[in-house]
Amino acid sequence: MALTAVKGFNDILPGESGRWQHIEQTARRVFELNGFGEIRVPVLEKTELFCRSIGDTTDIVEKEMYTFVDKGENSVTLRPEGTAGVMRAFIEHKMYTQDPVAKLYYLGPMFRYERPQKGRYRQFHQIGAEITGVNDPLADAQVLNMLTSFFREIGLSEPTLQINSLGCPECRPAYRAALRSYLDERMEHLCEDCRRRFATNPLRTLDCKVPGCVAATAGAPSVLEHLCSGCDDHFASVCRYLKISSTPYSINARMVRGLDYYTRTTFEMVTGLLGSQSAVAAGGRYDGLISQLGGPAIPGIGFAMGVERIALLLNEQDFTTHPDLFIATMGEGERDTAFSLFDGLLKSGIRVEMDYEGKSLKSQMRRADKLKASYSLVIGENEVASGRATVKRMIDGRQTEAPLSVAGVQSIIRRSEG
Ligand code: ATP
Ligand code: MG
Repeated sequence: MALTAVKGFNDILPGESGRWQHIEQTARRVFELNGFGEIRVPVLEKTELFCRSIGDTTDIVEKEMYTFVDKGENSVTLRPEGTAGVMRAFIEHKMYTQDPVAKLYYLGPMFRYERPQKGRYRQFHQIGAEITGVNDPLADAQVLNMLTSFFREIGLSEPTLQINSLGCPECRPAYRAALRSYLDERMEHLCEDCRRRFATNPLRTLDCKVPGCVAATAGAPSVLEHLCSGCDDHFASVCRYLKISSTPYSINARMVRGLDYYTRTTFEMVTGLLGSQSAVAAGGRYDGLISQLGGPAIPGIGFAMGVERIALLLNEQDFTTHPDLFIATMGEGERDTAFSLFDGLLKSGIRVEMDYEGKSLKSQMRRADKLKASYSLVIGENEVASGRATVKRMIDGRQTEAPLSVAGVQSIIRRSEG
């Protein structure tokens, strides 16, 4: 039987990878403009890191992690998200001693054992960014503006920003209690998962997609009405800064996040175009995470975007690049001249293709069309003898004669580019 990839793990083929590069390059450009530097951390971490950061009772830790025991009897996990590893590195390298304010971004594969479907895979890719060391809501606003700029720069207007506040360890317990007593009276309408989560993670019920749970929680108490004054002021300032910077947003008081470390501001970029995979990017504040992982009491805020979902939204757009020139030859005798020109043009930065197999002229020209080359050039005995050739612009067939040399061909391609 032929070998195939593991279920939920995808190959990204060249037609598709142009879109991925466009996403990655746009993110790097926008994030670096905002003063973020790239951090690269391992895909494999000690299992304990994720249990302690994401939380033992979250879906990710309870059922989605790729965890195994390695040959040294250590429990290790393929990272299900990026923030935990980045913060582990921030603490391990004592990056805060130089400056508690770090602006970091990362990109790479993440792994979760989920049921694969459109926009949901077992290996998927995130691009994320984090700011540590800033309590001020200015940091929240910068992160949200940066996320919004990224989607604008990439040419997507569809995902829209929703924000919420989840409070802090001071005010959340009271909200949790209020929500629990509300849910307690509606237990029979809740799905099995939510009933199980009632004790450990009742907020997740607000995020449940099961129709019974959606209906049962329609009148649930709002987290925003239970914020302490510190959290309330913080949220109001975030909203004010978003208005000052003309960043469109809406408030969604039912938004909760599937990771325990969030405090105060949480947000998602949501789309209606990907079915139940509606979150294209998500994040929030995690003021307690760094100390929870054994570091100093330094706050943080960040987000992660799902590259596969962004690529799906860009689906109709073609980012593949095409050759500047295709060199065809009449016969075997011209191949040395053709190869020398081909090599010289590549070395001078012209993207050129030639026939590798001695095919007929007709099939060579078909290939030039298929590759969507901008120009073509045919080398025969006459061209070799005269040292001149005709360069054809493929789009309209316009022909220009030029010396059969790197400089000659270059002058035509460059001239009509400009
Ligand atoms: P969802 O509600 O769709 O499960 P999530 O809350 O689990 O998302 P996060 O952990 O916040 O997602 O991850 C941030 C982003 O990573 C998501 O908004 C999404 O774009 C992407 N993402 C998460 N899980 C997957 C997956 N299994 N496959 C593809 N992309 C994913
Ligand atoms: Mg999920």
